[in-house]
Amino acid sequence: MNRGALNHASSDGAAHTLLTKAQRVVIKIGSALLFDPKTGLQTDWMAGLAADVATLKQAGKQVILVSSGSIALGRDSLGMPTGRIKLDEKQAAAATGQIQLAQAWMEALRPHDIKAAQILLAPEDTETRRRHLNARATMQRLLDYGVVPVVNENDTITTYEIRFGDNDRLAARVAAMMSADVLILLSDIDGLYHKNPRHHADARHIPVIDEITDEVLQMGGSANSDFASGGMATKLAAARIATTSGVAMIICDGQTTAPLSALSQGARASLFTAKLAPSTARKNWILSALETEGQVKIDSGAVGALRGGKSLLPAGVTHVSGQFDRGDLIDIADQEGVVLARGLAGYAHEEAQQLIGQKSTDFESIIGYEGRAELVHADDIVLMNGAERQKTDES
Ligand code: GLU
Repeated sequence: MNRGALNHASSDGAAHTLLTKAQRVVIKIGSALLFDPKTGLQTDWMAGLAADVATLKQAGKQVILVSSGSIALGRDSLGMPTGRIKLDEKQAAAATGQIQLAQAWMEALRPHDIKAAQILLAPEDTETRRRHLNARATMQRLLDYGVVPVVNENDTITTYEIRFGDNDRLAARVAAMMSADVLILLSDIDGLYHKNPRHHADARHIPVIDEITDEVLQMGGSANSDFASGGMATKLAAARIATTSGVAMIICDGQTTAPLSALSQGARASLFTAKLAPSTARKNWILSALETEGQVKIDSGAVGALRGGKSLLPAGVTHVSGQFDRGDLIDIADQEGVVLARGLAGYAHEEAQQLIGQKSTDFESIIGYEGRAELVHADDIVLMNGAERQKTDES
C-alpha cells in the first residue's frame, strides 16, 4: 500500500478546517436527496441546506450549487413509467422538471434574502475556452452580486455523445472553471471506504486521500459494479478532475437536515486534497494551449499595469497581429517585441484591431456593441518569468 496516498491517522476535522478557510465553495446535490418518489420534492431538506448556505455566506464565502433533480421531478409530473427511459424522454422530463427545480431553490433561499440564478451547462461550455470565459464571467458577476448560481446540465439539448452524464463530473468541472477552493459532494454515504460498507462489516473509512492511485480507484468499484450504483466511481472521477485543478473535494453524508452544519461539527467525511493552488492550476490551464494564435504589443503604461496584476485594456495596445478568436491564447509583448505575458484574448483579432488605443466608452460606436472593458482579463493573464521568456524567444 502506498502510505503517502492514504492518511488514516490525522483526519480529525481536516474537512472542517478546509471548509472554514475556503472562500469559494461548490456544493453538489444529487436527485436522491431532493426527490422521493413517494413523498415528492424534499422541501424541508432544501430549507435545511438553504440555512447552511446562508451560514456560509454570512461567513463571507461565495457559494455555487450544482443541483440534479430535473429528470426525477419531470418524470413524476409527466407520469412517466419507472425504470429505464429513452434519451428524448429524459430530455422532456428535464425540461419540465428544471422549472420546478429552479423555483424550489429560489423559494428555499428567499427566507435568507439570497437570490438564486439558473445556469444550464453543456460540457463544451466548460471545455471550449471561449465558452468557458463567458460562463466564468457570468458566474463571477453573479457571485459579486451575492447571488447563488444553481447549476445543472443542459439536459434538453445535449446528446449521449456530448453529455456530462452525471452531475459529479459537471460539479468538478464547474469548481475547476470557477477556481473554487472546495467541492462538496453531498452523498448517501459519509465518504470513501476501502470496500463497500453495505456488504462488508470490516470496511474501513478513509478520511484523507492525498493521491488518487489505482488502489483508491479500485475502492470505488467499476462503473458497473453494485457499489458504483451509489456513484463512488463517478465521485472518484470527479475527485481527479477537481484535485488536479487545485480544488479540494469532500464527500460527506447529505442525508441529515443540515449537512454542512454537521460537517462543521465534525461529522465523518472523506477529504481529497488538492494538488496545487487554484491560481496555479488556472495558469497551467491558460498555458496548456499548445500555441499562441497571435500577438499584441503594448505601451509602457500597460506594461506597468500588467506587472501590477491588472487587466490589459485596448487603450494600452499599440499593435495586433495574428488571427485569433475570443478565448485563444495570445502573446503580450512590449514595444521591442519581448513577450512579457500570455493570456486568453477577450476579443477576436478583427475587433481587437479596431479597438487599438480606444477607451471602453467608445467601444459601442466602433464594434456595434458595448463589449468588455478588457482585451485580456487579469484572471486570464500569466506573466512570463525570465526563463519562460527566454524559451519563447528561442523557439
Ligand atoms: N442532470 C440530471 C438531472 O438534473 C442529473 C444527472 C445526475 O444526477 O448526475 O436530473
